[in-house]
Amino acid sequence: MSKKVLVIEDEIKILEMIKKYLEKEMFIVTTAIDGKQGLEKALTELPNLIVLDLMLPGMSGLDVCREIRKKNKTPIIMVTAKSQEVDKLVGLELGADDYITKPFSLAELTARIKAVLRRTGNAEDIIENKITRGNLRLDLDKCELFVNDVLVSLTPTEMNILAVLMRNPGRVYSRLQLLELATHDAYEGYERSIDTHMSNIRKKVEVDPASPQQLITVYGVGYKFKE
Ligand code: CA
Repeated sequence: MSKKVLVIEDEIKILEMIKKYLEKEMFIVTTAIDGKQGLEKALTELPNLIVLDLMLPGMSGLDVCREIRKKNKTPIIMVTAKSQEVDKLVGLELGADDYITKPFSLAELTARIKAVLRRTGNAEDIIENKITRGNLRLDLDKCELFVNDVLVSLTPTEMNILAVLMRNPGRVYSRLQLLELATHDAYEGYERSIDTHMSNIRKKVEVDPASPQQLITVYGVGYKFKE
């Protein structure tokens, strides 16, 4: 499956160039133009890797890095200018995985991204693709869901939706977010198809699908997995 890269960069021209190039390299690219938006996307869209510019308006790249690390270990490549040697070191101390200095070539950035993904990929997959919550055990590598140790069959879309929700118990996702995260293909107007998927998943995992205890509807917003 294509890896998803979040690029956080306030210079739109550079942002667009990176996006175009990475898409040609078969990455799924999502973008943010300031630190606050970047942090939000880092925590909700769960990219496989983050390219994080150090100099951002408002919340700096270092603050974004610090906040992300409080929540997860998503690989981060920091983008620094030559004059920011000290900040670069702080970034690595805060848990950034690598850095690249401006100006850089897109080929070099891509090589760094692939290297960091290779270096961090396996460990992350083990954590990410096997998720256990309560009586549910999901193994995305094998496309298997066990409910109370009984194998239950799900469609790939159902499995992806469940994985998104189970990875972040308590976090509320809108229908559009779920559609995008589970199928990488979101069209406004199709959000309601999530309700059908959700109803089918509930029939398979809930004791009483009419009164779900795990896959909770948040009225007016979307869905969450119980905390
Ligand atoms: Ca900048």
